[in-house]
Amino acid sequence: MDLYEYQARELLKEQGIPVPEAIYAQNSHEVAEGSDQIGYPVVVKAQVKIGHRGQAGGVKLAHTRDDAILASEDILPMTIHGHSVSGVLVAEAKNILHEYYVSISVDRSSRDFDVLATANGGTEVEEIAKEHPESVKRLHISALDDFDIEAAREMAAAIGFYHADVEQAAQILLRMWRCFKDNDATLVEINPLAKIGDPDDESSKSLCALDAKISLDDNAKFRHDGWKRFDDSTGSDSLEHQAQEFGLHYVHLDGEVGVIGNGAGLVMSSLDAVAYAGEDQGNGITAANFLDIGGGASAQTMCQSLRIVLSDPKVESVLVNVYGGITSCEQVARGIIEAIEELRMTKPLVVRFDGNHASEGLAILREEHNSMIHVAPTMEEAAQMSVQLAAQAKENRQ
Ligand code: GDP
Ligand code: MN
Repeated sequence: MDLYEYQARELLKEQGIPVPEAIYAQNSHEVAEGSDQIGYPVVVKAQVKIGHRGQAGGVKLAHTRDDAILASEDILPMTIHGHSVSGVLVAEAKNILHEYYVSISVDRSSRDFDVLATANGGTEVEEIAKEHPESVKRLHISALDDFDIEAAREMAAAIGFYHADVEQAAQILLRMWRCFKDNDATLVEINPLAKIGDPDDESSKSLCALDAKISLDDNAKFRHDGWKRFDDSTGSDSLEHQAQEFGLHYVHLDGEVGVIGNGAGLVMSSLDAVAYAGEDQGNGITAANFLDIGGGASAQTMCQSLRIVLSDPKVESVLVNVYGGITSCEQVARGIIEAIEELRMTKPLVVRFDGNHASEGLAILREEHNSMIHVAPTMEEAAQMSVQLAAQAKENRQ
């Protein structure tokens, strides 16, 4: 299974390999938001499971918000070498001083691992390899011997990393190897592994993985539960992907009532309450999703959660069930108001608040005088109400 760059870079990051700050985005709105957050300039990069995106126009530098939006509007509809673009990575642009290339792959013939590397990395690496084959080093890591920091230092020097980069390169080689091994990969490639920084300031210079390509061994799938997140699908699962990007726990279900709460237990109980209410009312309404906003959620988290839940076209009403502990109901209420304005929400929302700043939160909702916002004193009543509203909306639609 091949990973997208935005997924591969997460695996590098997990091992402590430096990568630029970045977000994954699927529309120009998210690109604008992400770029503002990262700061300019940014690079906007097509997410496709094929290389040479740069040469195909799939990698663009943007100095302003408008540039970033334009770049994404160019790139998102693209098909690169037969692969349609699934989204874009918006990454902090780095000042590149030099580009190295390093890959680790399975070598079936020698039954060990190949390290292919050159001090002349970048987009032209294949041409350079053809013209100057001696500049590309092919080294091995044995499955049986230890590959430790000493071995990594030797390797970095043999590859031709500049003296000043050898120590950091050794650390990165070691971490790439761990990434390869821990993830049962068949390929871990970084091109460019770039030297970045201010040319006039020695202390600002460091190595950073500006691109990442990883393939995983499908035979090892059974021992990696986490790979489910790499399943490449469209529709509802793309909502799960989006949620993941924001650190939200979202599971897409099949019903009509969007459910948002804090804490897995409370959200599970809310799903049950919705199911009971549906049975009770005999209208077959059930929950559309599980979404746990976690502890200490901000207004922004709440707003993002509503956006994701409402992206599901089957959703007819939303139940927000928050028992404020670390999470302040006041923050949640602010998030709700923000989301309603931003999304021009037309679906009814039932809110049940208890705990931390519950009365302040309810006061904020009341002040809105919005007929779409309903408040219920208990979870059961909130579930009954949201099921009833969903059934009504569904009936009106038919
Ligand atoms: P690929 O063409 O699919 O391999 O995509 P890459 O992510 O490797 O990007 C292609 C090229 O774009 C790189 O070799 C760099 O020269 C350039 N590039 C990518 N990221 C940055 C960046 O942060 N700053 C600058 N200046 N160039 C970048
Ligand atoms: Mn590349």
